[in-house]
Parts: sequence; C-alpha cells; structure tokens
Amino acid sequence: MIDSHCHLEQHDYDSDRNEVIARARQKLKAVITSCAHPRDFDLTMKMVEENKNFIFASIGMHPEFIKDFSQKQIDDYFQLLEENKDRYISVGEVGLDYSWVKEDEWRQKQKELFIQFIEFAKEHKKPLTIHCRDAYEDTVKILEQQDAKQVHLHLFGANQMVKQVAENGWYVSIGPIVLSSKKHFQISRDMPMELLLLETDAPWNAPQVFTEHVKVRNEPTSVEVVAMKIAEIKKIDFEQVAKTTDENTIKFFGLNGV
Ligand SMILES: [Zn+2]
Repeated sequence: MIDSHCHLEQHDYDSDRNEVIARARQKLKAVITSCAHPRDFDLTMKMVEENKNFIFASIGMHPEFIKDFSQKQIDDYFQLLEENKDRYISVGEVGLDYSWVKEDEWRQKQKELFIQFIEFAKEHKKPLTIHCRDAYEDTVKILEQQDAKQVHLHLFGANQMVKQVAENGWYVSIGPIVLSSKKHFQISRDMPMELLLLETDAPWNAPQVFTEHVKVRNEPTSVEVVAMKIAEIKKIDFEQVAKTTDENTIKFFGLNGV
C-alpha cells in the first residue's frame, strides 16, 4: 500500500518522526508527504533525501494560507520550486478553501494563485494534488478551464460530481473519513477502481476520530483500514484494493524505484 497524501513535517512528529517512518516502512511501499507551507520545504526535502525511493514529496501551498504571504514571497516560493523541480513529484496541495476564507477579495486571490500553480505544474509536466473545501464547483471549473489533465483530488467530498471527475480521468484519494461519511462511502463506491488512491492526511483524520470522536494522531499506516473499507464497499478482496491502488499511485505520480 501507498499513502498518497500525508504531512510528515508536522510538529506532531517532532519527537518520534523516525519511528513513524520505520513503522510505515514495515507496512507500506511508499509515502507521499505534502509540504503545504514554504517553511516546511527544507524538512520535507530532508526526509526525501534520507528515505530515497520510499518518501516522495508533493510541494505546494494550502489555500488557507493565502492571507499570510506577499506577492514577493509567493514569487520567491515559485522560484524555489523551479530551482528544485527534480526533487518532488507533484505540485500540491493547492486549490480553493472557502471554509477558511470567506471574503470575496481573498477568494479571488486564492483562484489567481491556484491558476498560477496549475500553469506551473503543466509547464513542468507534474501532476497536481488538489485540496478543496466548500469550493467544489469552482475548483473543478478552474481545473477544466485550465485544461489540467493530471489531477489528484485529495479528500474530495462532492459525491454528486463523481461522474464528471471520472470522465475527466482524474484520481481521487480516499482517507479514513470513509469509515463514517456517507458521501465518501458513495465516492468510493462510484469511482472506478483504476482512479482510486489511498491517503491518510496524517497527522489529522485518524480513523478513531471518526468512530470514537477523540483526538488521536494519525499515521501513514492507517491506509490499511481505508483499503479494508474500500474492499467491503466494492465487494472485492483487500489484496485487490492494495494491488490496484499501488499500481494507480505508481503510474499516476511516476514513482521510480518503488
Ligand atoms: Zn493535506
């Protein structure tokens, strides 16, 4: 199995990051960690260097941070991404978040930055890892308008748009929220198996959070319960889910040496 989206740079792992990675190595083929803020770039690259062919990076900026950066800082970040373009496999997470950002002016800025990231990804032939929350229609519209082809929708919650997403050939990663959410159950059921990936969004979204309503740190190894749930939903073997999602992830991100 492969965790296609988590955040190993978070402070939650500062005291035992190497043990978390060691546990992931025992169960998983690879982990894609998402750097969603410029301050996390160096630590993310360090993990990639120390764990060649196991940890891969996706580099972007979470749309919730839109108010925190000047245009100059954003330009500098693009410069950094340009200079280091061979060290990461995907651009993300990037996208729109209307839950964090309510003002029209800032939502407009989110859209502009999102388009800039899409253009950058296309120019460098990299896949996009997309975050979207309460902004599904605008996100899909912008991706279509920009003619984005290599798209990975992380924690995508718009079950009514599954047909459109699948027709576009875009991938959706399913996380532990599928244990309790009807929408995510439906998305897992209705998306074709060849467009599904596994994710955890760790350290957030631990499986226990959804079943017992407690605060627990998540880890990449939780993809196992996600794969078990997908097997139940799709009425196929667990091994088949693990094998197909591995193949999908390796193919989509072009993971070398996994
Ligand atoms: Zn994330």
